[in-house]
Amino acid sequence: MLNLILLGAPGAGKGTQADLLSREYSVPKISTGDILRREMAENTPLGCSIRNKINAGQLVSDEDVTKLVELRLSRPDCGNGFILDGFPRTIAQAEALEEILKAAGREITKVIEIVVPDDVIVSRMSGRRVCSECGATYHDKYNAPDTEGKCDRCGGPLRIREDDRADIVSERLRVYHEQTAPLSAYYSRKGLLCRIDGMEELQDTYANVKAAIEAKK
Ligand SMILES: [Zn+2]
Repeated sequence: MLNLILLGAPGAGKGTQADLLSREYSVPKISTGDILRREMAENTPLGCSIRNKINAGQLVSDEDVTKLVELRLSRPDCGNGFILDGFPRTIAQAEALEEILKAAGREITKVIEIVVPDDVIVSRMSGRRVCSECGATYHDKYNAPDTEGKCDRCGGPLRIREDDRADIVSERLRVYHEQTAPLSAYYSRKGLLCRIDGMEELQDTYANVKAAIEAKK
């Protein structure tokens, strides 16, 4: 049984690690954004209620998010466990999650935080370029186009996505640290937290993540 929480800043490579783990351990990767989109697309009562709130300009509450996760975790594909990506974000959500799992006779088995220094994330993300015409992606350092500023595939002009601008990335990192520091401390006190260096090659990081998961508590 793998009941895993993955923490990691935007751009730290958490999504890729989650995908690899999901395949290897046959457990679903669960993100609240995905569940919410599905509930809204299927027009479930909870999906509709949340949509109404969003349309009225309200934030989605801790309670709603927790309810979404509770519903999702009760689905049969979570029988072997799950990987939570982007939840919990607050201590209140972490405590609610514990209650949900306890009621189902389960508990979190591990919390893994992928750690990459902020300046590295900023430089990784600010080097990204996307083709305005076909959507192909490039990177200044790791995957540069043959002609600067031009798409190899269609010749379209390359641009920086709004989300990848250095100032926006820095702001998202600030918010991330503000939210995550208390959570790391919370899970560290429970002896569940394992911090993994995300600066290594993808496969090496993955090997370390797996070793952490399979290590005895
Ligand atoms: Zn293109």
